[in-house]
Amino acid sequence: MSIPKLVSINPATKKTIGSVQVNPVNQLQPVFERAQKATVAWSNMRLTQRSQTLRLVRKKLVAHMNELSELIASETGKTNWEGFLEVFTTVEHLRHISRHGPEYLRTECRSSGIFLHKKCYVNYVPHGVVGIISPWNYPLILTATPVVEALMAGNTVVLKPSELTPLTGKRMGELFHEAGVPEDALQVVHGFGDVGAAIVDSTHTDMVCFTGSVEVGRKIALACAEKLKPVILELGGKDPMIVLEDANLERAAGAAVWGGFSNCGQTCISAERIYVVESIADKFIGLVKTKTKELSVGPDKTNSDVGALVSEQQQEMVMAHIKEAVSGGADILSGGEDLSAVGGYFIKPAVLEVYDESSNIMTRETFGPEICIMRVKDAEEAIKKTNASSYGLSASVFTKDKKRGQKIAKKIQAGSVCVNDVMTNYITADLPFGGMGISGIGRVHGPEGLRSFCQIQAVLVNRFGLKREPWWYPISKRTKKLFKTITKIIYG
Ligand code: NAD
Repeated sequence: MSIPKLVSINPATKKTIGSVQVNPVNQLQPVFERAQKATVAWSNMRLTQRSQTLRLVRKKLVAHMNELSELIASETGKTNWEGFLEVFTTVEHLRHISRHGPEYLRTECRSSGIFLHKKCYVNYVPHGVVGIISPWNYPLILTATPVVEALMAGNTVVLKPSELTPLTGKRMGELFHEAGVPEDALQVVHGFGDVGAAIVDSTHTDMVCFTGSVEVGRKIALACAEKLKPVILELGGKDPMIVLEDANLERAAGAAVWGGFSNCGQTCISAERIYVVESIADKFIGLVKTKTKELSVGPDKTNSDVGALVSEQQQEMVMAHIKEAVSGGADILSGGEDLSAVGGYFIKPAVLEVYDESSNIMTRETFGPEICIMRVKDAEEAIKKTNASSYGLSASVFTKDKKRGQKIAKKIQAGSVCVNDVMTNYITADLPFGGMGISGIGRVHGPEGLRSFCQIQAVLVNRFGLKREPWWYPISKRTKKLFKTITKIIYG
C-alpha cells in the first residue's frame, strides 16, 4: 500500500509548493521507541553541553534565515517580512534559552526550615519523551521554541507540525540535526489530527505540549487526564485592547492596526476587540481608518503589508463573522471585501464599529484581518467588558499614565498584559507566556516555561550520622513534652 502524502499549497497563489510523506499511525511505534531510547544519552549530557548544541542550532537558523523566511511565507501566505520576523523572534528565544537555560535548570537550594541538620534542594528532572503538536500560523516559532525548551530540559521530542505547514517543520528538523541535535532526540512526524492523537495517546510520550485551537485542546486535555500525563495547552484568544481618554492616540492607533492585521490577523494574540473611551473615540477611529487604508494587500510577498489567509476555510470563517456582524447592526468603517479575485485567500483589512457584544465577532476567535471597535463610557466599563470573555490570552492598555495602566493590568484576566504596547510580550523571551480561562493551561518561555518541561524533584539529605530522629519509635514521654514546649515557643 502506498503511503499518503501531505501536499503543501501556497495560500497566496493556490499553487503546490511541495509535499511530505505522512507517517501512518500504525507505523509510529518505532519512532516512539527510538525517542525513548535516546533520552538516556541526551538527558545525561551536561546542561552546558546541551546549551552549546542549541547555540549551534541558533547559528544554523541564522545562516538559513532568508531561505526559512521565504519558505514560511510560501506555506502560510504571509509576507517575506513577516516570515523574517518569525525567524528573528525564534532566534531571540533560542539565544535566551541557551544562555539562561543552565541557570534556570540548575539544582536549587531550599531552606530546611527548623531542621537545621538537614540539607534541602530541588532538582529539575526531564519528563522523558515530549510530544509537541503545533499549528500553522507561526510554523517555525511555535515548533522551534517548545522543541528547544524540551531539549534544553533534557527531554527528547516527537514533533508533529501542522498539516498545512509540513515543509517548514521538516526543514526545521533537518537544520536542528545538521547543527548537532541527534536524529532520535528530535523526530519530526507528519499527518493530520490522528497522528497528533497517537502522540498524545502513546505510552512512550511522558508529556504533551500542544499549541492550537480550544476545541482540539479540550480533546487533548481529556486524553491526558485519562493517563495523568502532564500537558501544556497554548490555545486561542480574543484579545482586548483598552484605549483610555489620556492615551497617545497616534501610538494606540498604530498598535491597533499592527496588532490586528500583521500576520493577516492570524495571531493568537491579535488585537480583536478594541474598547475605546467615548470622549476620544472619533479621533482614534479616524486614525485607525487612515492607517488601515494605507495598507497594501496582495500576493506580492516582497512589497505587500498584509498577506493571505491560510486556507479557503479560514477565509470563509472570517467573511462569515464580518457578514453576520454587519447584518446584526455593526458598521464597516473600512475594508472587509473578499479579494479572492487576485488569486489567493485575501481579505481587505476590515475595521468595524460594533454595538452588540454578543455577536460571534466579539465573542469567538475570528483569526483574520479584522478589528472591532466598541465605544465605552470609561475605564471601568472597558475592564468589565474585557473580562466578560471566556478567553484570557493577552490584553493591552493605552494610557499616558503608566501607573494607571499597570493598575488596570492587574485587574485584567489575561496571561499577559502590555501597557502602551501590543504583542511585544511574545518576543520578550524571559516573560512566561500562556493563557487564563479557556486560552490554556501552563506556560512556555522564561524560567517558568523552561521548568514546565521538567518534573520537580525535592531532595532532603541528612547532614549528620545520628542514630535516630527524636520522632522515630520509640517516642519517649520526655520527647513528646519537649515537642509541645518547642511548638509553643516557636509558633505560639
Ligand atoms: P488546530 O487545533 O486545528 O490544530 C493544531 C494541531 O493539532 C495541528 O497540528 C493538528 O493536526 C493537530 N490536531 C488536530 N486534531 C488533533 C487531535 N485530536 N489530537 C492531537 N492533535 C490534533 O489549530 P490550528 O488551526 O492549526 O491553529 C490555530 C489555532 O491555534 C488558533 O485557535 C490559535 O489561536 C491557536 N494558537 C494559539 C497559540 C498560543 O500560543 N496560545 C499560538 C498560535 C496559535
